[in-house]
Formats: sequence, structure tokens, C-alpha cells
Amino acid sequence: MGAVCADPAARPLEARFGAPAVAKAVRAVLAQARTQLSIDPLAVPSIAGLLEAAGCRLADGARETLFPVINATGVVIHTNLGRAPLAPEAVAAAIAAGGYGNLELDLDSGRRSSRHDHLDGLIAEVSGAEAGLAVNNCAGAVLLALAAVAQGAPVIVSRGELVEIGGGFRVPDVVSQSGSALVEVGTTNRTHLRDYEQALGDHPDAKVILRTHPSNFRITGFTAAPALDTLAHFAHAHGLLLVEDLGGGALVDLSPYGIADEPTVQASLQAGADLVLFSGDKLLGGPQAGIAAGRRELVERLASHPLARALRLDKLSLAALAATLRLYLPPADPTERVPVLRMLTQPAEAVAARAEALMSRIAGFPALEAEIRETLSYAGGGAMPMHALPGRAVALRSARFSAEDLAWRLRTGATPVLGRIEQDLVLLELRTIADAEIPTLAEAICAAS
Ligand SMILES: *Cc1c(COP(=O)(O)O)cnc(C)c1O
Repeated sequence: MGAVCADPAARPLEARFGAPAVAKAVRAVLAQARTQLSIDPLAVPSIAGLLEAAGCRLADGARETLFPVINATGVVIHTNLGRAPLAPEAVAAAIAAGGYGNLELDLDSGRRSSRHDHLDGLIAEVSGAEAGLAVNNCAGAVLLALAAVAQGAPVIVSRGELVEIGGGFRVPDVVSQSGSALVEVGTTNRTHLRDYEQALGDHPDAKVILRTHPSNFRITGFTAAPALDTLAHFAHAHGLLLVEDLGGGALVDLSPYGIADEPTVQASLQAGADLVLFSGDKLLGGPQAGIAAGRRELVERLASHPLARALRLDKLSLAALAATLRLYLPPADPTERVPVLRMLTQPAEAVAARAEALMSRIAGFPALEAEIRETLSYAGGGAMPMHALPGRAVALRSARFSAEDLAWRLRTGATPVLGRIEQDLVLLELRTIADAEIPTLAEAICAAS
């Protein structure tokens, strides 16, 4: 970025459009070039070529507002920064899906097919469910599932699970929007099987028990809730369906990495949930999507419900989701191939080594003091709120700028860098930074400090 803007050929552009606009255009063109490079490593652009492209952009009046940033917050699934960063395979699949494709066409027969066909088998294979489908997001999947499965009959939910996830997703509101009445059972901290039994006595027309993952909130201490398999057994014995909104959507058991309290989709299905709903862009590490996995008959009911059309996944996300799910198929190791899982499971030593690598690049910068700090970082996205991951941050203090000003300069530079302020220092967490980003990050620190 610096080299491109410093090139003499940038001067005429700056004279015409102003330096900030040129910097913005160059940033957008560089982002495009980086994407191109991830697909074709030989497509290395020249400075002249980049400036020409930036000039065209400015002349066209095309102004991007969305830029790549460096996430130095340590929060792996950061909602404000677009949640899960996609694997290169998923990015390439989305780009390839940009043109015409056999999204809803069976090439063999030449007849119309369903876009769900691309995901059904894959979701089933990775989760162990009979069938699966994906819609726009998990909130949509919950709404669709309740509308299609409860069909207006009462839905039973424990009072300990009537949560608000953030962004306006509140369980009671979603139930009522689905057209069903909410039947609350138990208390905030303790709900027993007999509470469900009593609710069923009062509401014999109830069809669904909804279990929700409390996401970014925990009740600890004097608590009780029936185990999922007990609840499933109870539901089935009384002709009810058990739907679980899992939110996070882990398909890999993270307990060997010290992350113990995140239930997997497979475990939930094995315990007897009829339908499990989860996000595509949280622990699964794919694009924004909401996935429903479970019994085929129920998944088909969801697919043919009118809301499925309103909530359908677009072709770019569908392609990226399919590519991400393929990274879960053996012999691929998702903890190495899916960026979210790689960042969550990387050992503390790997994070520390990256901190050292950054330190060695910024050591000589004038007017800047830097040191490595041991920190704690979080998964984010409502997953594992109690589970702090051991992290390393590079703490910066500028001789010229306050911590607030330095953070602002980092945020608004050519490559925006997002860190956090703690005790008058700007902390840049290394867990969420890729090795390949270190040179760019050092350049951004140099420009800002
Ligand atoms: C995050 C979350 C949702 C909403 O998922 P989106 O994909 O953001 O729509 C719903 N339920 C639970 C339990 C969640 O954690």
C-alpha cells in the first residue's frame, strides 16, 4: 500500500481526486489483487497496473465501503468484523459460483432441481443426520423450523433458556413470530422433567419442546436441567418433537484442546434431538448461514414451507458453505483447514512465536515502545463465553500519540488494524492474526506510530 501510494505515478491521481480517495481506491484494488493471488499465485500485479486500476475505479466513481481489516482483538468469531474468516477453498468456491452455474438444474436430465441438493448429503455426512438444509442464518433456521414443525401448536421452553442472543434475537419473540404460543416451564436456574410433564398436562396440544443453547450467557451455581437424552426420551414418549437451537454448531469435539463446554451437533443428534439448528459462520467456520440437520421427514417439511423461499441461501454462500463442509470430510483435518478451528486450537506456543515475529519486525521503530504480554482471549460469537484461551499480545506505547490516538490511527490506516486499549497501551492480540499478515501488520504499525 505504502509503496503504491509513494510511486510518482500516484501524484497525478492525487492531484485530481485527493490523497485520501486515492488511498481508498488503492486499498480496494489491493484487496482485489490479494483475492486474485489466493486463487492464482502467479497473478502478481505491478505497481503501475495497480495504480491504473485505482485510477479507473476513481474515474468510475466506484467507492467501496467494505474493506479487509486485520483482526488483532483476539476474538476469533467477531460479529462486527464479519464473524468467521473463510478458508481459501470457500472463497474460491464462492468466486467460481459468481457466474452461471447448475444451482437449480440437473445437468444429466436437463430438468429443474433444488438448490438444497448441493448441501443435503454433505450436511448429513458431516453431522450424522439423515438429512440437512441451509437457509440465510441460524435465526432464520429457528423461525423456519418452528413454523414448519410446530405449525402453530404450543412450543415448550425452559425459563432458563429464554435468552436474548444479541442483534435482537430473543427466543420468546422468535417463537411468537413462528405463529406458536410459548409455554414456559421451570425457573430461571432449575427446570426438571416434572415441569415439562406438568406443562404437557396443561397444554396437551403442544407439539415441540425447544431447547436453546444459552450462547453468550451462563447460569452457574444451583442449577438443574434434564440431560438432552432424557428430554428426548420424554418428548418421544409423549408424541412430541425435540428441536435444539445449538447456535455455535461445533462439528468437532474441542475438548482435547481444553475447550470442554461446547456441545457438538453430532452429540445432540445422538442424544435424540429430532432437529438441530446451528450457524454456518460461528464454530463451523463458514459463511453466514443457518443449518437444520435431523430427521429427513422434518427437513423436507422445512424445505417445502413458504418461509424457506423467503430465507433461502444465495448461490455464493451456498458454494462457500459446501466447500467449508468438505473440509470436514476425512482425510481432511478441519482443525488445520478451517481458519476458525485453526485459530481456536493453535497451541499457546504458536501464538507466542507469532508475537516474537512481530516484535522482531517493529523493534527498531522510533517513538514506539513494544513488549509482549500474556493475555486471555475469547472465541466470541456466543460460543464458549466462559472459556478463556491463553493468548499473547504485543502492547504498544507511542511517544507521539495517546493510546486512543494510536488506536484510531491503526484503525483508519491503509490496512485497518483493530486492537484494544488497556491501561494506556494498545494491545494487539496474535491469536487471530495469520502468519502471512505479520509483514502488513508491521507496516501498518510503522505508518501509524
Ligand atoms: C448465534 C445464535 C443464533 C443466531 O444465529 P445467526 O446465525 O446469527 O442468525 C441463534 N441461536 C443461538 C443459540 C445462537 O448462539
